[in-house]
Amino acid sequence: MLPVSPLILRVAVAGPLPGLFDYLPPAESAPTSLVPGMRLLVPFGRGQRVGMLVETAGHSEQNGDRLKSVTAVLDATALLGPVDLALIRWAADYYRSPLGEALFGALPVRLRRADARLDPGSPGLRPTAAGLNLDVAALGRAPAQRRVMECLRAAPQGLAMPTLKARLGSCVGPLKALRDLGLIEPCRVAAGPAPPAAIPDAPVADPAGPVLNPEQTRAVAAVSAALGGFAPFVLDGVTGSGKTEVYIRLIAEVIAAGRQALVLVPEIGLTPQLRDRLAHRLPGPHAVLHSALPEAERERAWHSAAAGCATLVLGTRSACFVPLPRLGLIVVDEEHDASLKQQEGFRYSARDLAVRRAQQAGCPVVLGSATPSLETLYNARLGRYRRLHLSQRAGGAQAPAIALLDIRGQTLSAGLSPLLRAQVEAQTGAGNQVLLFLNRRGYAPVLTCHDCGWVGACPHCDARLTLHLKLRRLWCHHCGWFLTTPSKCPDCQGLDLRGLGLGTERLEEELQAVFPGVRLARVDRDSTRRKGELDRLLAASRSGEIQILLGTQMLAKGHDFPGVTLVGILDLDHTLYASDFRAPERTAQLIVQVAGRAGRADRPGRVVLQTRHPEHPLLKSLILGGYPGFAEVALTERESAQLPPFGHLVLLRADAPDVEVPMDFLRQGRTLALRLLGDLGETGVAVSSPVPATMERRAGRYRAQLLVEGPERLGLQRFLASWASKLWTIPRNRGLRWSLDVDPQEML
Ligand code: ADP
Ligand code: ZN
Ligand code: ZN
Repeated sequence: MLPVSPLILRVAVAGPLPGLFDYLPPAESAPTSLVPGMRLLVPFGRGQRVGMLVETAGHSEQNGDRLKSVTAVLDATALLGPVDLALIRWAADYYRSPLGEALFGALPVRLRRADARLDPGSPGLRPTAAGLNLDVAALGRAPAQRRVMECLRAAPQGLAMPTLKARLGSCVGPLKALRDLGLIEPCRVAAGPAPPAAIPDAPVADPAGPVLNPEQTRAVAAVSAALGGFAPFVLDGVTGSGKTEVYIRLIAEVIAAGRQALVLVPEIGLTPQLRDRLAHRLPGPHAVLHSALPEAERERAWHSAAAGCATLVLGTRSACFVPLPRLGLIVVDEEHDASLKQQEGFRYSARDLAVRRAQQAGCPVVLGSATPSLETLYNARLGRYRRLHLSQRAGGAQAPAIALLDIRGQTLSAGLSPLLRAQVEAQTGAGNQVLLFLNRRGYAPVLTCHDCGWVGACPHCDARLTLHLKLRRLWCHHCGWFLTTPSKCPDCQGLDLRGLGLGTERLEEELQAVFPGVRLARVDRDSTRRKGELDRLLAASRSGEIQILLGTQMLAKGHDFPGVTLVGILDLDHTLYASDFRAPERTAQLIVQVAGRAGRADRPGRVVLQTRHPEHPLLKSLILGGYPGFAEVALTERESAQLPPFGHLVLLRADAPDVEVPMDFLRQGRTLALRLLGDLGETGVAVSSPVPATMERRAGRYRAQLLVEGPERLGLQRFLASWASKLWTIPRNRGLRWSLDVDPQEML
């Protein structure tokens, strides 16, 4: 008799640990009850860790007789199905992230620990979109069906089977008939009150929406015709051109066909308008997922999506991994936004993964933006993505004209040149609203002693401390460290401490002095820290109560200010010469996004950009050709420098409390890379020397990096696969941390 070989469990352990680890099943569990996608508690080192079963095998390469058994099985059923696992494995591979880190990074926070999953709800039934829209009179000749339909339509989020039975008695026949007609469908019904993360099914207030203009109609028709198969689209439309309206029509169609839609946005906290609009127009339940939600709410929303119950998932980047058994459409709104890229740990791009996921699921993906990234425009140019263009503002609103205002040699008051000041006066005087944009929060970016030249600096970073006057704090915007603002100079005890430069807090104070009696509102991270405050400020602006709205880039994201007729961009000069090669692209996007806030209604808007560099080529291309003109010039520059999207980049980053440790590590990494490249032959991959980061010390750690460039992805990936495994063999001493950043968005 052949010996039965033991079942080996291959487990990804949570945390930055490369590779899979082999375990034996726990003695008490039947091996067939173990499937990939379940969490396990496993002995690891001297303790226990959470892991996920990824695959099973007949034998182990790892020291067979010393294999340990799993301590406990944490889930009764798999959290992630084969498709979800495949996507995350692909992503971990592409971004060279340890699988355990990627898998657990994709789960709701509670499930990253050994916590038991929350009750996903009991099986039940609910009406489909067709069922909700049905005229019940149509069921006139089937009174039993009609009774069921009326009962379920009163509970659009679904009724659990026992509840149904209690209300209607046994009704197997009518239920089956209604399911066959596509009027009802199975779902999970949460016990107790509906979780707040799911937007309650508001009655679909205005299901029809406005009549689409011809461009919108064409866009909807193009994507709609592609439903059911993979097709990537770029929806390139100026702010207010009705992109959201296009998403809504498509999502409604997908939901009506019994499928789920996934909408990814950069920051949900900043888009309450979008959330509400979707809630009012589309049948639910909707699952909202973002990091500001309480953990339990987020997990419930996740289960509702994974159970196929949520019709729509609206989330920030990690939502790109949420299991969606009936996925029919993906929308990435503001696809150019850098916050769609995770900047620590598992450094993935949610936008790029959305495209990959659509390919895997066989559904269309729509990347929407008024200022598409150069990568996306290039993909459209190559014909990989289909470009859908909305050139007109919906409802006939006029697009704003952008004008440069040369402020060399001018005296500014409250950050405004005399000309801009006169325009602000004229607009507020005429009962219009003005928006002033300054991308620097706090009172002043520097506090200095007029007697001895002392400057407030962060003890943990190579950075100045920002003065926050009302909070009486000197605050480091990089690590969060702060101290109470000193009343005299720490060095010379002098009393003449001065804030230099202009932040939004100071701008607000000075504007109030220049325009006494004018009603101001400041929108930045400090003024909106209190829950509900952002909504309150936005509502006050929309009601016309506010005359001048001032703030940081929070204002540029997703909000409509229909009453704004003048936008003043006070100071973006510092970003024109920033070292990151993406700085021009980001600056152009910011200008166009801020400009898009003006003149949405019947009143035409103006945008005035103050600068001391009116001859700067970026500004000129933007003024002359708008964003498309700028993008054309910028792509040509990228091509000649072989920068993305023409070449591909990877950063190896390292940091440690000691200045020499990261540089040492990177030098060893470079040596390994060069040796490997010698072995691989012609790949075109180039490895630079290690350099300290632009801000070398941050939060008490010294940071350095090494740049790898390759002309094509495949060769670069082949090199990375071998190099990454070699990097793990370098001894890691004295608090070193390192990571690979594939397709980095921030070069600092
Ligand atoms: P975007 O997402 O491109 O910024 P929205 O979809 O939010 O644009 O549309 C901007 C405004 O125009 C919204 O108030 C929307 O209701 C309205 N709108 C959109 N499409 C139309 C249309 N075809 N006719 C009239 N108004 C429209
Ligand atoms: Zn001093
Ligand atoms: Zn700091």
